[in-house]
Amino acid sequence: MEKKHYLIIGAGIIGSSIAREISRRGLGKVTVLEKEQNLGMHASGRNSGVVHSGINQKPGSIKAELCLKGNALLKQFCRKHKVRIEEVGTLVISNSDEDDEILEQLMAMGKRVGVPGLKIIDSGELKKREPEVVGRKALLSPSGAIVDSIGFLEAVVKDAKKHGAEFIMGAKVSGIHRNSVKTRKEIFEADHIINCAGLYSDKIAHMMEAGKGIRIVPFRGEYMEVENLNIQSMVYQAPDLNFPFLKVHLTRTVDGKVLAGPTATLAMGREAYRKGMHIGEFLGMASSVNFMRLILRESFRKLVAENAKVTVSKKAFLKEIQVISPSVKKRDLKKHPPGIRAQPIDRKGNILKDMLVEFNDNSTHILNAVSPGLTASLAFAEYVVDRIENK
Ligand SMILES: Cc1cc2nc3c(=O)[nH]c(=O)nc-3n(C[C@H](O)[C@H](O)[C@H](O)COP(=O)(O)OP(=O)(O)OC[C@H]3O[C@@H](n4cnc5c(N)ncnc54)[C@H](O)[C@@H]3O)c2cc1C
Repeated sequence: MEKKHYLIIGAGIIGSSIAREISRRGLGKVTVLEKEQNLGMHASGRNSGVVHSGINQKPGSIKAELCLKGNALLKQFCRKHKVRIEEVGTLVISNSDEDDEILEQLMAMGKRVGVPGLKIIDSGELKKREPEVVGRKALLSPSGAIVDSIGFLEAVVKDAKKHGAEFIMGAKVSGIHRNSVKTRKEIFEADHIINCAGLYSDKIAHMMEAGKGIRIVPFRGEYMEVENLNIQSMVYQAPDLNFPFLKVHLTRTVDGKVLAGPTATLAMGREAYRKGMHIGEFLGMASSVNFMRLILRESFRKLVAENAKVTVSKKAFLKEIQVISPSVKKRDLKKHPPGIRAQPIDRKGNILKDMLVEFNDNSTHILNAVSPGLTASLAFAEYVVDRIENK
């Protein structure tokens, strides 16, 4: 029997992990088309490098399941392929009665999800672990880790190639007609197309009459590098559980830097890494029903206003950092490249929080692979390929 040709659009960590999984299982020929010349130019190379433990995931959600499974698979993969990873643990600090309640909620959610080793520690133990952090107590999740995210992506691509997958860089998909995929270089014929285009996944889906009613709204995550601060692990403020974004937090990277952020700032273009506006894209987004309904929500306007403040004012950014570590000074803050989240919104203006994949006969569309997509990636690939294989 002739084997199928799987064509994957996008060589981020999701597309690359799926390419690896299909080729490892020997299901057919795999070609990955990536518009950039280099790997990791978007979310997969512009993130915090955190291997999440799953503490803030909703029990029963796909995200929770894939985060937990992905955490273990990623650690195993990194050990085997010698990718830099450190199991440093995650701390969520409390500074008020309200925060205490959120910590209890996170602990209960984490236990239901199956996160191992969760415990609340007091201010004394927190001080011992993180002398430069303040909090009256903290939730400790020991299975959180930090990873070299570009190193991880490169290793996944290398392993996929070893199993026969082909990666074609600089191949931007500009049109799709039935099973023909057009790039400037060539037209590719495929039996099954897998859309892993991140910030452009809605556009690619719409070319194939899939992803109906979904619009990607880009949220820029801005970072500051914090000098003269010693942090051993990841330290979070108690989150607002109504939003899929975390508040500004501190993360040590495998390079020994300390990052503060990311913010969740509405971006004026899908790849608007600088703060300017991409007029065509912005007008396209702003005129959609999805966006208009989203902007009508007071809670959303509040989120946008709060994050815009942190974006324009270094002083406001500093204030957020000082909630965790009051000794940080303005002069300690240095700019660090941002990333942009591909956040899908439905026609009612709902922010879609769980992972979302549309499975059709000859195509599959990854419509939501936001954080913890890096952590979940290898489990996400198994989840997607299991369903494609059993169709
Ligand atoms: C600021 C930030 C911080 C984050 N921190 C973490 C974290 O600490 N831990 C964690 O687990 N997750 C984190 N995430 C989430 C994680 O980075 C993403 O879930 C993951 O990288 C998504 O991978 P992807 O392959 O879907 O997207 P991408 O990496 O964006 O890949 C999509 C690819 O598709 C390509 N493409 C797009 N259009 C086309 C086209 N027309 N033709 C060909 N190619 C195309 C793009 O060039 C791109 O390379 C973070 C995300 C952001 C933005």
